Amino acid sequence: CGIVAYKGHRQAAEIIIKGLQRLEYRGYDSAGIALLNPELSVFKKKGKVAELQQFIADKNTSSTIGIGHTRWATHGEPNDVNAHPHYSESKNLAIIHNGIIENYASIKKELIAQGHEFSSETDTEVLIHFIEFIKESNHVDLVEAVRLALKRVVGAYAIAIISKDDPDLMIAARKGSPLVIGLGKDEFFLASDATPIVEYTNEVIYLNDNEIAIMNGSELHIKNTDDVVATPEITLLDLEL
Ligand code: GLU
Repeated sequence: CGIVAYKGHRQAAEIIIKGLQRLEYRGYDSAGIALLNPELSVFKKKGKVAELQQFIADKNTSSTIGIGHTRWATHGEPNDVNAHPHYSESKNLAIIHNGIIENYASIKKELIAQGHEFSSETDTEVLIHFIEFIKESNHVDLVEAVRLALKRVVGAYAIAIISKDDPDLMIAARKGSPLVIGLGKDEFFLASDATPIVEYTNEVIYLNDNEIAIMNGSELHIKNTDDVVATPEITLLDLEL
């Protein structure tokens, strides 16, 4: 299973598909991608990344921001609907997630009581609905909603989120599952490990547990789930070419 995401000035879909192929060695049962152009477009398929690539070949995938995922199913069988990305109730937010939200059932119950309807059986869809619910009911911005939601979450995760309402924003976070941010020139690469990133940059940040990375325009800020700001620590990859 793996995560690849991009925000910058290049075509995101090409970078993401190529990156997901580089992460294929990790094993997976389905793959998907979400883009903003300017609507939120989500394409996902059970099977190989090559099938996803074929599926999107005749679609409009023009976008300079996107999130991609290969899934190793833990909650819900491998099929097109359970594949990631998942989106929020309003379909404004999309998420990719590696890991397990252990307390998803109790959060799901709360949300169903609020009238939420779910299309998949995944723990991940519950998380993105929960984030939107917190955003709306607490009148906070998306970053704060993500932080508050993650404080309630028990489990392991590497996530990336994009929003139709804020096409220049990408949010990432991790706990237990790996996540690396590659720094380009006014662009950000995100992946489960550095393999999909090395051809673009050798400057990376290994996100620590409980950290949230906010990529807004060409700026990157990192804070933890207790709202303490962290200074990004850049690692230079040793590129053996
Ligand atoms: N728990 C999530 C699911 O079953 C994510 C699995 C993964 O790590 O790929 O959809």
